[in-house]
Amino acid sequence: MATRHTASCVLLAATLLMTDAPAVFAQAPEPIRYTLSFPAAHTHYAEVTATVPTGAQPVAELMMAVWTPGSYMVREYSRNVEAVTAAAPDGRALAVEKSEKNRWRVTTGGAPSITVKYRVYGREMSVRTNWIEAGFALINGAPTFITLADRTPRAHELVISPAATWAKSLTGLPEMTGGPHRYRAPDFDTLADSPIVLGNPAVYEFTVDNKKHFLVNEGEGGVFDGPRAAKDLEAMVREHHRMWGSLPYDKYLFLNLLTEAGGGLEHKNSTVLMGSRWLTRTRRAYVTWLELASHEYFHVWNVKRLRPVELGPFDYENEVHTRSLWIVEGVTDYYGDLAVHRAGLGSREEFLDSLSAKIEELQTTPGRTVQSVELASFDAWIKYYRPDENSLNTSISYYTKGAVAAFLLDAKIRKLTSGTRSLDDVMRAAYGKFAGTKGYTADEFRVVAEQVAGTSLKPFWDAAVTGTQELDYTEALDVFGLRFRSVSAPADGGRAYLGASTRNDSGRLLVTQIRRDTPAAEAGLNVDDEILAIGDYRVRADRLENRLEQYRPGDRVTLLVARREQLLRLNLTFGAEPARSWRLEVHPSAQDGQQSARQKWLSAGKA
Ligand SMILES: [Zn+2]
Repeated sequence: MATRHTASCVLLAATLLMTDAPAVFAQAPEPIRYTLSFPAAHTHYAEVTATVPTGAQPVAELMMAVWTPGSYMVREYSRNVEAVTAAAPDGRALAVEKSEKNRWRVTTGGAPSITVKYRVYGREMSVRTNWIEAGFALINGAPTFITLADRTPRAHELVISPAATWAKSLTGLPEMTGGPHRYRAPDFDTLADSPIVLGNPAVYEFTVDNKKHFLVNEGEGGVFDGPRAAKDLEAMVREHHRMWGSLPYDKYLFLNLLTEAGGGLEHKNSTVLMGSRWLTRTRRAYVTWLELASHEYFHVWNVKRLRPVELGPFDYENEVHTRSLWIVEGVTDYYGDLAVHRAGLGSREEFLDSLSAKIEELQTTPGRTVQSVELASFDAWIKYYRPDENSLNTSISYYTKGAVAAFLLDAKIRKLTSGTRSLDDVMRAAYGKFAGTKGYTADEFRVVAEQVAGTSLKPFWDAAVTGTQELDYTEALDVFGLRFRSVSAPADGGRAYLGASTRNDSGRLLVTQIRRDTPAAEAGLNVDDEILAIGDYRVRADRLENRLEQYRPGDRVTLLVARREQLLRLNLTFGAEPARSWRLEVHPSAQDGQQSARQKWLSAGKA
């Protein structure tokens, strides 16, 4: 995706198609030709027919991806595939043998092409899977299209027969001549990277830099404010265009599914967003949605074209590990929020709130001293995407720490260069050097940052990227004239701190998480324990917070808990609530230089 095929290659292929250049295509491998139909969408099924060239080989090995780039977890998409059959051009049935969990081996009998048919069940509401129902469908490439396992570069053509009541198909795929709903991906990567929304969504169009952009809203329901969202997305697109200097695609689609689900997934010329139809009704929810859209859109550059060397060409059948997801996701998260502010769509305070929330999440996660952000990146497949009750003690989100590291690095570069350069310059320089070619190694990205900064950044990298030291915010606060809001310690010492998270399970007070090095951990409280009483007084599930206010740090109590139906008494000494504030605010006595540095940062020099 961001790997072997640059945007200009896609453009070239489309141009050749339009001008009908047989000399080129005579040498190109035969395309795989799919039809996708929905004769019973209300049962959540799509039917796929694929005409697959075999090169007259006796066996055709077919495969389905097990994961989708951008979402680093093996999803086993083939579990939703059924009734796979194959036939020769004369209609003769061919033997199909399942050869791997995600592969099928067809005995071709020397047929030059085979027709493979199968059904796909789609009822998982996420940005990386399929959802098919009577009203609409979201089709993703990886969980839908079986292709040749040898992955010889070849075009993948698609003709869609939407359900009878569906008028539209929306996708980033290049269109093919001959009627509506006909598309031609120059390669499998493009097919896998181009989700499709089918149905009757509301579509809003705007143009930036002569490129058409579409906001596709499925499920507005008379509630979501589509025109306002489209207008604001246009401002956001213009800001990213200003930062990067060009728009590296022909068209771009925001596929916005208002299905009361959540998430976003980036693609080369589209994104799938999921949210609530109510989110334009409240300010915070709307800003959060704009930040999500901005994050996914920033990926147009950062990861879909400027990518870690490991993220391409993709092995769709195995995990792909990289130490640079903190750059891919963390830097993107930093700029996602920053661009919303720079575009004039959110206030300074809203931006500082978003950044503060990331700092607070990092600084209150014990795993920050255990796992570096590089290792968090590498282990995304087994940790970030597979969290459990102990994750906060052992790991850190590369989104969160990556964004905070980006903030500190941005400030550091501005300081080292007396405000003449910034992280913006690092990203542009890295893009110029690596986009569309081979990708960067972790070291190469650091070297680009050092070239922009004009000095070694090894101490910063050792502390913030490869190490697990506590981050130092002093410099960044000083550069931008910010401070953390002060909190005064309560006169009575504050309320008692336990260090455990709980949930109310139909009136039972169950422990869900135990933080490392807290009174709960020291006392031997366990996840899944039911807390029955504190100090011999019954504590109801909805009264824990109130009860903790009755005690002070240092008070000793017994906890009565039930563990697998056995009653246990645990001796516990309450601690003090961590009192430190991580809310950023403008320092009231900031100097002129700090104010102008902050201005320049927040407005990108526009103001
Ligand atoms: Zn992302």
